[in-house]
Amino acid sequence: MVPMPDQIPSKPDILILGAGPAGLSTALHLARGYPALAKRVLILEKAHHPRPKLCAGGLVIDAETILQRLGLDVSTVPHVDASAAHYDFEGRGFTIRPRKQHVLRIIRRDEFDAWLAGKVRSRGMEIREGVTVKNVQPHEDHVIVETDAGTFSAQVVVGADGSNGITRHCILPGEPAHTARLLEVITPENPVTPALHRTQCGASVARRAGVLPARRSNPRIGVAFFDFFCVPAGIEGYTWDFPTQIKGSPARCWGIYDANLHPGWNKPPLKKILAEEMARHGFDLGTVELKGHPIHWFHPRAALSVPRVLLAGDAAGTDSLLGEGISMALGYGALAAQEIGAAFEHVDFSFSGYKRHLARSGLGRVLTARWLFARVVYRLKWRWFQFLLWRFLKPVVILVAWLFVLNWAREGNSFKHNPARALRGGTQSQRRKEEGGKKQG
Ligand SMILES: Cc1cc2nc3c(=O)[nH]c(=O)nc-3n(C[C@H](O)[C@H](O)[C@H](O)COP(=O)(O)OP(=O)(O)OC[C@H]3O[C@@H](n4cnc5c(N)ncnc54)[C@H](O)[C@@H]3O)c2cc1C
Repeated sequence: MVPMPDQIPSKPDILILGAGPAGLSTALHLARGYPALAKRVLILEKAHHPRPKLCAGGLVIDAETILQRLGLDVSTVPHVDASAAHYDFEGRGFTIRPRKQHVLRIIRRDEFDAWLAGKVRSRGMEIREGVTVKNVQPHEDHVIVETDAGTFSAQVVVGADGSNGITRHCILPGEPAHTARLLEVITPENPVTPALHRTQCGASVARRAGVLPARRSNPRIGVAFFDFFCVPAGIEGYTWDFPTQIKGSPARCWGIYDANLHPGWNKPPLKKILAEEMARHGFDLGTVELKGHPIHWFHPRAALSVPRVLLAGDAAGTDSLLGEGISMALGYGALAAQEIGAAFEHVDFSFSGYKRHLARSGLGRVLTARWLFARVVYRLKWRWFQFLLWRFLKPVVILVAWLFVLNWAREGNSFKHNPARALRGGTQSQRRKEEGGKKQG
């Protein structure tokens, strides 16, 4: 029996584990494409929204494209718009400054995720908070999910529990985990030692000094900086410096990303590199709270599902080139909803086509392309190569960024499967009974 819209499913057909962007996007896409299935969804989340989440909060245009398609306007969430993004290597680099729009919209994740969770609730779906998943056991005709608040059974489970989540380990115990390392700090907006800032100016710092006053005069307009100076030292990534806000007060978010594609490489400590970069700009890492979190990145050969269980977002794997994952998590949600819709429609919960469908989608193509670039660009870590790359290959880098880094979500997610049929889907046994009844009739 299909429950009424305002009924909370006691035995949900679809359990989503984790209420981050991936889990919430899966729910929102189910509500959009398969409203009857959405009534049979339950989301389990270990924290309580608004919950802290370590993240710089840079939303690229693809995230906004997906949200707009869901009828959601993210500009209602507190944010700072970065009007430009500057990519740098030892003072060489380029700035992307779109004429008509911001290049990044920077939100705080506690606020953004709580807003998204509110949208899910307003569509009639329940998020049960304070429930930690302990184990996920797929069986032939159902999945058992053990939590600290009891045991749940469902037809389908979506593992959207992030980079440190448990679902992936339970369903794919032997799979290797590919994880990037990140550190992040929040600082006040202005340097503590402006004199140091001026005396130690390199070309890059000087350039930055030129753009900083504009941001200071209007804290809602800023520049997001990405600095790849650490690549020759073996760090497969960059440091960042984003304008942000904390409860309405201007602030900056600094961090360092190391894709860690080659964990065996001899690398300097991330903290040291970040501290040096911040000091060059007059900020003292020693006076702020440093936090770290891994990112599980996408590998084209990694499995993404087993029968009845799908992975989405960081749990499945995100971008290894830049560690960008919010738009990807939203994109995974669209794809996961489509797979679930098709599964109920065809009464086939093998999810055998999920990886193939991902590979063919804009999301899959961009994840694969970024994985390839990361392997090439970070491997060629010689200073002279990086210097040439940033100095002379600028147009190529911009073209590649335009083709492979942005705009993948424009392709959209057409619901190829007939939602109306999926609505009739019911559980497998219900469907069989229904069909048997019709035949007899
Ligand atoms: C330092 C840092 C900076 C970043 N900066 C950016 C950026 O600027 N832009 C960008 O696009 N991406 C950025 N990312 C990546 C981005 O944060 C992730 O890709 C994104 O959060 C993935 O979303 P998700 O929904 O898959 O996972 P998450 O956001 O991690 O959500 C998973 C949810 O599952 C819950 N959960 C986990 N385990 C359990 C359990 N056992 N039981 C129940 N619930 C559980 C968690 O509480 C959480 O709410 C950054 C990441 C880091 C670490």
